[in-house]
Amino acid sequence: MPANGLVAVVFGARKLQIYLVFRSLIRNFVVGLVTNHTSYSVKIKEIVNALERFAPLPLQESYDNAGLQIGLTAEQEASGALLCLDVTEEVIREAIDLGCNLIVSHHPLLFRPLKRVTGATQVERCVRLAIQNDIAIYAAHTNLDNAEDGVNYRIAEKLGLVDVQMMQAHQVQVGERSVTAGSGLIGYLPAAEDSLAFLQRIKDVFRIECLQHNELLGRPIQTVALCGGAGAFLLDEALRLEADAFLTGEMSYHQFFGHEQEIQIAVMGHYQSEQYTREIFFQIISDLVPDLPLFTTNVDTNPIKYL
Ligand SMILES: [Zn+2]
Repeated sequence: MPANGLVAVVFGARKLQIYLVFRSLIRNFVVGLVTNHTSYSVKIKEIVNALERFAPLPLQESYDNAGLQIGLTAEQEASGALLCLDVTEEVIREAIDLGCNLIVSHHPLLFRPLKRVTGATQVERCVRLAIQNDIAIYAAHTNLDNAEDGVNYRIAEKLGLVDVQMMQAHQVQVGERSVTAGSGLIGYLPAAEDSLAFLQRIKDVFRIECLQHNELLGRPIQTVALCGGAGAFLLDEALRLEADAFLTGEMSYHQFFGHEQEIQIAVMGHYQSEQYTREIFFQIISDLVPDLPLFTTNVDTNPIKYL
């Protein structure tokens, strides 16, 4: 027997009416409390829009696959967001444990097309796990690298560079707007630094276990060019712009040759150079919905380890 029927039998119809009115008052009061408490009511789509206002998708490189990867965003409310550089099964499980139905990542989970989702590869397992748990996955990758105040600006800010400019700026049409985009930055240290002290500072600031560099430059460093992640393609441009130092996430052995005393090369590690991407996501989302539960992953997703 339903509860209302039970009340009617025990107390009669009149009392049932009073009971229902009273119950509705209580319910409204409780819903009011809960609504106040969950004042972060926001659709996932609104978060995606905010991320794309900051880093519009047309800014991404042609090979990239930034944007919404998994999930329905139009109607779904966000319960919380987990911020990361890479999506792994561990990260998805962390989102489940934290009650977050949105993961915002720098590197796209889906990069190459999938022909099947059987669980045979890590990416396939992640796709299955996310869909099974109704978790949306969004990636802001090279569009964030190329955006003003994006990944490279964070690196420059941590190093205290001033008068920072994009190394290869160009305009991209985004709807009605013309947006400045570009890879790599060049800026200046407020005071010239000795090369060893500069390298040591990079190591400290970015908590780098193993900083690769070429031979120490015999002149002070003041002009610094940089590009987080796989930015070695900008070394020639850094030389052309007469930078004293070039800082990036990864560079191959042969690219180090021939630049001794031309420029101080410093290679931080891909993950290390992009670790502050999560701060950008955090700022954008917390500006939009200050009360939304927002977490930075506790999983160290750097697949490269150092002994
Ligand atoms: Zn990267």
